[in-house]
Amino acid sequence: MPELPEVENFKRYLNATSLHQRIISVDVRDAYVLKSVTARELARRLKGRRFESSCRHGKHLFARADGDLWLRLHFGMTGSLRYFKGQGKAPNHARVLFVFANTHCLAFEDQRKFGEIGLIKDVNEFLKKRVLGPDALDISRSQFRDVLRTHRGPVKSMLLNQKLIAGVGNIYADEILFRARIHPATQVSVLKEKTVAKLFRAARDILKKAIEAKADMDRMPKSWLLPRRGKGGKCSRCGRGLKSAVIGGRTAWFCAHCQKSASEVRLPA
Ligand SMILES: [Zn+2]
Repeated sequence: MPELPEVENFKRYLNATSLHQRIISVDVRDAYVLKSVTARELARRLKGRRFESSCRHGKHLFARADGDLWLRLHFGMTGSLRYFKGQGKAPNHARVLFVFANTHCLAFEDQRKFGEIGLIKDVNEFLKKRVLGPDALDISRSQFRDVLRTHRGPVKSMLLNQKLIAGVGNIYADEILFRARIHPATQVSVLKEKTVAKLFRAARDILKKAIEAKADMDRMPKSWLLPRRGKGGKCSRCGRGLKSAVIGGRTAWFCAHCQKSASEVRLPA
């Protein structure tokens, strides 16, 4: 599921391939993806325009078309972007194609159909309406601390809650907690100041490194949890088998030996 590092890479990909080219048509092949806009309106409003810039907030990507119109993209479970030549060569799961004057296309691919595409006037207004928290790479240390100090629940649920901090999903939440050596079920209320600071640093570091690795699992450090998470996976620190538990409705993977601290942990029942 695309999280902040994946979406940041989609942004860079879009910037490298699709800016400043005239859009000659928009081919909607599956309209489920459209939110608050029809296929005809999407095509009509984008035709003749160019994408001029883009920005990302959490897991949302926004591409600005000239004339101050924003295309918004959310990648759901399996969404991604692909730029290619020739409309006939569209990937299997292309749901919407933006066709450029140079005969290349940008496809929004989405096998499992949880993605979203819409048109908006103003990014900040949209973020407000969705009540999204600050982006996980923009949030300051004191903001981060305040979020944790004013909410209750397991630390992993905090990290996953897009209304508190936007961008972290199941995979990177586990990675961040593994790095910070915090058990995912730890109640935030018992985290000490220095543990909160450690968690903040771990979040920044993991997200930045994952972006640098192009969110490609094969390029992630071997010491990370990501290449090992799952049945039979072993901790890169102590070699013990990884454990899983459902926390905040999602399956967490962790090392019960390395991610604990007697005073700070309440194990899931
Ligand atoms: Zn371990």
